[in-house]
Amino acid sequence: MRITNVTATIFKWDELPTVTYNVNVSPVSQSSDLALVAIETDEGITGHAFLGWAMHAGSNEAPKLIRFLKPAVMGQDPLARELLYRRLMDRSRHAQFAAIGAIDCALWDIAGQVAGLPIHNLLGTYRDKIIAYASSEQLPSIESYIEQALELKEAGWKAYKIHPPHFSVRKDIELCQAVRKAVGDDFTLLLDATWHYDYPSALKVGRALEELDFEWYEDPLSDQDIYNYVKLHEKLDIPLVATEFPQHGLDAYAQWLLAKATDALRGDVALKGGITTLVKTAHLAEAFSMNLELHHGGNSLNNLANLHIVSAIRNTSMFEVLLPEKAQKYGVIDDLTVDKDGFLSAPARPGLGAQIDFDLIRAKTVEVLS
Ligand SMILES: [Mg+2]
Repeated sequence: MRITNVTATIFKWDELPTVTYNVNVSPVSQSSDLALVAIETDEGITGHAFLGWAMHAGSNEAPKLIRFLKPAVMGQDPLARELLYRRLMDRSRHAQFAAIGAIDCALWDIAGQVAGLPIHNLLGTYRDKIIAYASSEQLPSIESYIEQALELKEAGWKAYKIHPPHFSVRKDIELCQAVRKAVGDDFTLLLDATWHYDYPSALKVGRALEELDFEWYEDPLSDQDIYNYVKLHEKLDIPLVATEFPQHGLDAYAQWLLAKATDALRGDVALKGGITTLVKTAHLAEAFSMNLELHHGGNSLNNLANLHIVSAIRNTSMFEVLLPEKAQKYGVIDDLTVDKDGFLSAPARPGLGAQIDFDLIRAKTVEVLS
């Protein structure tokens, strides 16, 4: 079996709500695009993935995918994923990890179709469902977070993550206190500080979160500030969850483990280079009795890929669903929906198992790169 072509179809993603998640990243604007990456084979099987997310259009990276990564896989056996993964990673100075991740996910999609099995079966299934947590956008007031958390709880969700607006450290703590009071003690709460604090502020917030029985404290400090993460880790009992950023492959986790700077590893198929990196990461974490907690994937197919991974690893606890839906779900007909008890299950169809909305993509196509 050989790879005969790789294309990237760029399609518009309009009518996006204007939302922000952290102060360092530009907000979602009204219009963006994704790229449908298709890897064709000489046996008629095509693997798919989406490249891009609402805040970072697929058209930014698709030309580099075609220019630098396509030559690495053309004519190769699509089932030789480890070999192709190495060839792709060797080009990570030229193309972003998201583009490597898209090719890797499409290769896994091919493997699933060849075997007639969903990807989590190929990896070795561990679970048939996982608890989901809703992850807020930045909202304008404490009241709006309370309202959102209560609505989610009412709808059956069991966990909620706050991305605070960062008006001030004191306000962030007040927000966490107010949401805990509103949802009660039997509801899981998480804080994602989005790399915002310096060490003294991070310590102050962390101690407040411990009082409030938050489940984890994500990215309090700058994403490469291992020195201060180590200090914070020594002082706090609440689990620290770092390493979502920067974008990198497996090897960059080593220094975090050696320094004892985080309580869990983190990543998603776009930021770390695909299913292959994350399965390796999960197994690396397992040797340290640590979890890999997956970051949302930024688009519908990446989230499906993430879901196959968590379905096939033991050491993870929850699945992130970033709000609002209109900035996260696009291009798939039967997108992921939590059940009435707040769980998600991976599709049973072969490969990624997505029903891609090819009609929509055709109608919104801007350009096909090949
Ligand atoms: Mg985060």
